[in-house]
Formats: sequence, C-alpha cells, structure tokens
Amino acid sequence: MKTIDNFNFENKKALIRVDFNVPLNDSFEVSDTNRIEAAKPTIIKVLEDGGSAVLMSHLGRPDGKVDSNLSLKHIVDTVSQIIGVKVKFVDECVGKKAEDAVEELKAGEILLLENLRFHSEEEKGNEAFAEQLSKLGDIYVNDAFGTAHRAHASTTVAAKFFPEKKCFGYLLAKEIEAIDKVMETGEKPILAILGGAKVSSKITIIENILDKVDHLIIGGGMTYTFVKAQGGQVGDSICEDDKMDLAMDILKQAKEKGVEIHLPVDVLAADDFANDANTKVVDVDKIPDGWQGLDAGPKTLEIFKGVILKAKTILWNGPVGVFEMESFANGTIAVGKAIEEATKKGAFSLVGGGDSVAAVKQFGFEDKVSYVSTGGGAMLESLEGKTLPGIAAIID
Ligand code: AMP
Repeated sequence: MKTIDNFNFENKKALIRVDFNVPLNDSFEVSDTNRIEAAKPTIIKVLEDGGSAVLMSHLGRPDGKVDSNLSLKHIVDTVSQIIGVKVKFVDECVGKKAEDAVEELKAGEILLLENLRFHSEEEKGNEAFAEQLSKLGDIYVNDAFGTAHRAHASTTVAAKFFPEKKCFGYLLAKEIEAIDKVMETGEKPILAILGGAKVSSKITIIENILDKVDHLIIGGGMTYTFVKAQGGQVGDSICEDDKMDLAMDILKQAKEKGVEIHLPVDVLAADDFANDANTKVVDVDKIPDGWQGLDAGPKTLEIFKGVILKAKTILWNGPVGVFEMESFANGTIAVGKAIEEATKKGAFSLVGGGDSVAAVKQFGFEDKVSYVSTGGGAMLESLEGKTLPGIAAIID
C-alpha cells in the first residue's frame, strides 16, 4: 500500500482529493468541521516536507451546474483556521484559471479548487476532465474515504495519470487498515454486531462477513424477521415476510461455517412507535399483537455483553434499537459501553456505516472505541467485500 509516507514533497505540488463535503448553516458557516480536521495530517505532511497542496473536493449535489450556495469559497476561512495556514481559493477546478493559480503556488502554500461537481464530467468519471485535473499537481494523493466507492474523475480516474506518483493520504490509509484489521488480519474471536432496521439492506454484508467472523450478534429491527422465520410471534414489530427464507438460509450458512449467531431473547416492546408509548419487556418470540419490539431487553443485553467482552476484534454496524427515541436508546448505549470495556481490555473495535456512527457520536463513545469510520456508503461497500474503485486505482 503506497501512502503519503512513501513520498517526499519538497518543491512538489500535491494534488489531494479531500472530502470537504461538510454541512453549512444558513449563514454558510461550516457547522461540523470533522472532515476538514480529518484531512489535516495529510496536508501538514506535504507542507512540512516543503511542498504545496492543491485541494479538490465536492460539496453537496450541484448536479453539474454552478451553484453559488455550494461554492467551496464558503469554507476557505474555516480550512485556513484548522490548518493554520491562509488558504488560497480559485473559483474553477480545471482549465487556465486553475492552472495559473497552481503555477503561482509556492512551497508551504495551500490552494483550494472550486467544487468539482460544478462539472457533470466529475461524477461521470470523464477521462478528459480527469486529465485536466491531473495537470494541477505532481503527485496525486487520495484522502477522501467518503467517496472512495465512487468511480468519479477526481476519486479514481485521475490516478491513472500518475502511474508512479499516486498514494493514499493518512485518513484513507487509516480506514483501509481498520477494515483490514477486522476482515483480514483480526485477532480471534472476531465479532460483528449488526443492527439497523432491515435484513434486506444488510444481507450482502451478512453473507460476506460469515466467512470472516466467529460470532455474529443480530439486533435492531432485523431481529423480527429471524424470529418470525423460526416460528416466533413478533406482534406489530418491523418484519420483512419476504425475507424469512433468507433469514433461515443465513442461520443455516452460519451453522455450516461455524459462526455462532446471537439473537435477542427478550425485547422492550411498545404499544406505539413513539417515545411516550407504554412499554413492557417480553420474550422476543411472544410479542403480543398491538405491540412492537423497539429495543433489546435486559436478558439480551447481558448475553450481548458477555459475547462482546470475550471478543478480540469487534465490528459494529447498526443500532440495536430505535436509539433516536430516548425510551429505546438503552440497548444501543449498553452495546456501546460493552464495546468500550472490551476496547479497554485490548480488543480492536471498529464502528462504521451510517446510524451506528451517529449513535456512537451522540452517546459520547467516539473516543472510546478504536476507530470510527468517516465514510458511510464506502464503509458499507467495504464490509460487503467490494473493492472500492478509489482504492483499487491507487493499488494497481
Ligand atoms: P440502518 O440504517 O439500517 O443501520 O438502520 C438504522 C435504523 O434502524 C435506526 O434509525 C433505528 O431507529 C432503526 N431501528 C433499530 N431497531 C429498530 C426496531 N426494533 N424497530 C424499528 N426500527 C429500528
């Protein structure tokens, strides 16, 4: 794996694909600076080597048209503050104007290009557009994990114009290492905790990880498809009747592969999908009509905790209850606490993909697990076993 550490950037211009797709508030101020902070180590390394950095990113979905609301000019001051260097900006990302701005760039300076997606060629992965981008640097660095699953001009196609001079930035390298630690080189026992709403959205992940893990905890809304498939009563719980065969097949495959599956045994059921609903703890396979399981029950959480504390490698994707409502957040918090404890004892824990990341941040576990992925879709596709085009483009 070629990373930024394999290069010396002295008097070189690094063309860095970053993910500065950050949220802006009504006054066009950056309301969450995480993604900018995440790119800082890579930018600093280039500057400290004595090079300069040309940063390219997308912001929002302008769909190939110029939209001043989505101009990257809005984030220039924030990037300057975070990096500690005054960032220059050019209101184009290809062509003469951009090339001139790059030409003028001196060692130690940073230039931010305008939103890549103002050109429809970006998302189409247009080769001529990628070639134009490639004129803006000597070494291509991809540090945008959030878009690594897209074969866009700046994330994938541009790499081919730097056959010997392309590499991963620190952030992308960290993401790849974290996934590898779970999927390839993880210390046993390896545990995956999969939650979330539906079996259908997690099926490819489940099938892929059955070859990698020793234990699989299934929680959240997915539970009820598995329970009903085995003859249980799930009341009004979320359930995909058309996925019951699939659920049975997963249980069979797990058995064949020697993977232990842990499903909830009890749940916190509610008489309405509402925070102030009436609730009671019931066995997972005896949920009365008019009631739905919205969180893991106490016996379940004890079992989950035991499994988590024995694991040496932990992957968590998807909450085990409707954590957005306070009344049903307890299970997800308990899982987070158990992962924190396991991590303290030396386990490697990775949280990735969508809502579990939101939950981890909301409940303050971000610094208590080994790694929280920055890419939703990209992480999900990695867990599905797909090779991400942005990663393949650097490796081949
Ligand atoms: P996902 O995007 O697949 O990870 O799904 C996350 C969503 O699953 C969250 O919004 C949770 O509220 C939801 N969820 C978790 N458990 C349940 C449940 N028992 N019933 C309904 N939705 C659930």
